[in-house]
Amino acid sequence: MLKLENLSVAVNDRQILHDVNLHIKPGEVHVLFGPNGTGKSTLIGAIMGFSRYKITAGKIYFKGQDITNLSVDERARRGIGVMIQRPPTLRGLSVREMVRICGKKHTNVEMLADKTNLIEFLDRGVNEGFSGGEIKRSELLQLMAQQPDLVMLDEPESGVDIENIAVVGQAANYILERGLRKNGQTIRKRRTDRQKSGLIITHTGHILEYVPADTAHVMYQGTLSCSGNPQEMLTCIHEKGYEECVNCAL
Ligand code: ADP
Ligand code: MG
Ligand code: MG
Repeated sequence: MLKLENLSVAVNDRQILHDVNLHIKPGEVHVLFGPNGTGKSTLIGAIMGFSRYKITAGKIYFKGQDITNLSVDERARRGIGVMIQRPPTLRGLSVREMVRICGKKHTNVEMLADKTNLIEFLDRGVNEGFSGGEIKRSELLQLMAQQPDLVMLDEPESGVDIENIAVVGQAANYILERGLRKNGQTIRKRRTDRQKSGLIITHTGHILEYVPADTAHVMYQGTLSCSGNPQEMLTCIHEKGYEECVNCAL
């Protein structure tokens, strides 16, 4: 689904990412851990193609094709979707209109809004006066409509209150078509002919209770340092901290 080859990225002429290699196969969900400022959001931004992230070396392949130089909207059309950390407020564009723009012709806006607890927000401007958690849910609502094949989530649970963590987790799972989960058990798997992939940045790992992930990576000082089982890696980070964790073989 996604392959990064020796990807290096600069922001404002400052080199942030160095030689990042990553391979996410169809149906796989990968998690990205790492301290603040290490380049996690930069990686997602570069994959999506936001112009502030300049690719200085390396290649991005999506579904086997080189997309390194494609525009954001072309990448979105090919099936990449992202939920960024701080999306802008769009005055004059309602959530309902935005969901219609993101979605296909027959998108059931009300049904998706219900799943994200956003029915009462449909006629408000996108993110206008929204709390942190409401912004996250509104982003997920747009992704539900877009139905991307590669879903990238930047800290989906941060700023979300306890009650809505489950809503966020279930929405993420819905987008990834990974089946409904409760207490760590898959209780219903959706039948699908498509194999969606995910890349999820998380500090807390709470999202892992809802979204089963296959592999985790630690990003440290702008490069991917180690990979392994998500739960084991989270335990390692909590016990030893990032610096020691990247030096130990899991
Ligand atoms: P993370 O998501 O891991 O917390 P980021 O990818 O957001 O890290 O940021 C990586 C580094 O890039 C940080 O040191 C940050 O300050 C820097 N950075 C991000 N945006 C800019 C910018 N517009 N100009 C200069 N440096 C930036
Ligand atoms: Mg951060
Ligand atoms: Mg970030």
